[in-house]
Amino acid sequence: MKSSRLWGTIFVITAAILGAMTFFSCTDSIDSTTDTSDENPPADTIPPASVTDLSIDEVGDTFCVLSWGAVDDAQKFSLRFARDTLTEQLWDSATVFSDDIFPGGDRITASVGGLEPGVFYCFGVKGCDTAGNWSALSNVVCCSTLTADTTDTSSPPPDTVPPPAITDLNIIEGYCESPTIYFTMPDDSLSSCIVKISADSMFTNYDSMVIYSPVGGEIETLTLASSVYIPGEINYICAICVDIAGNVSDNSNIIAFKQVYQIMAERCISCGRCYSTCSYGAISYNSSLGVYVIDPERCECCGECVSRCPRNAIHRYIIKF
Ligand code: SF4
Ligand code: SF4
Repeated sequence: MKSSRLWGTIFVITAAILGAMTFFSCTDSIDSTTDTSDENPPADTIPPASVTDLSIDEVGDTFCVLSWGAVDDAQKFSLRFARDTLTEQLWDSATVFSDDIFPGGDRITASVGGLEPGVFYCFGVKGCDTAGNWSALSNVVCCSTLTADTTDTSSPPPDTVPPPAITDLNIIEGYCESPTIYFTMPDDSLSSCIVKISADSMFTNYDSMVIYSPVGGEIETLTLASSVYIPGEINYICAICVDIAGNVSDNSNIIAFKQVYQIMAERCISCGRCYSTCSYGAISYNSSLGVYVIDPERCECCGECVSRCPRNAIHRYIIKF
């Protein structure tokens, strides 16, 4: 009896050891087949650096002109202001001048109008990267707007006449990677120009804008960053100007453009590879030209056809609509 119980105990212990070995063997097997490669890089959670050089360039009775330097990684800025003081804690309750100021150069200028005379205002900006991370608050700058008492009575009366509206806003068409607009500068002392981009032809609202300081000269040009327009869709653009007294012009003429891909006929060997790639039906064979062509109305600017072309014949174009 004792002997059979002993053999039973040995059997149970042996079974337990074998079970454990099998378990660890399976565990090793699972671990060895687990893909530890880093397929998805970690999300960008690092905000842009704070602006440190925000400055007040000019003060009037109802406006302030501010400027600051562009920051690496910041694709747009928010400019807000408040009476008496502005801190990180007060940012959400501060008055929003704009949360969508897109840099158009190394230094961004904004003319904040509609202020009350003789009031102490504080201004600050924050930058935002493409992942939506907002920077900490910039250096805060403050000033009192002018009053009748502080205005030099020997000076000429204040300028209340807005700059004339731009009437010849246009865009460079053809083979180019980025859209470039141009217009004749209005005859006034300007502090900034604002280019507004919208999917709405009536401009009842706009989707983005670029505020920048004109460089001077008779013709002003500005190349738009891809973050302020939508490739493959019709974008409407108009521009306004602000003079140094804060007077704002009416909207300019409105232009419409679309960024699409087009085929350079002189390079096309009519192999048809691009034709079978396009899922939007934008590519067809033009028998009179003897080459394939892309219909700009249908092209969604997806770029799928580009890598299929053995002749590097397909490139981005700007088409006016
Ligand atoms: S870019 Fe896209 S939509 Fe345009 S032609 Fe090529 S595949 Fe078609
Ligand atoms: S793939 Fe290039 S060469 Fe071939 S048909 Fe299209 S554009 Fe022409």
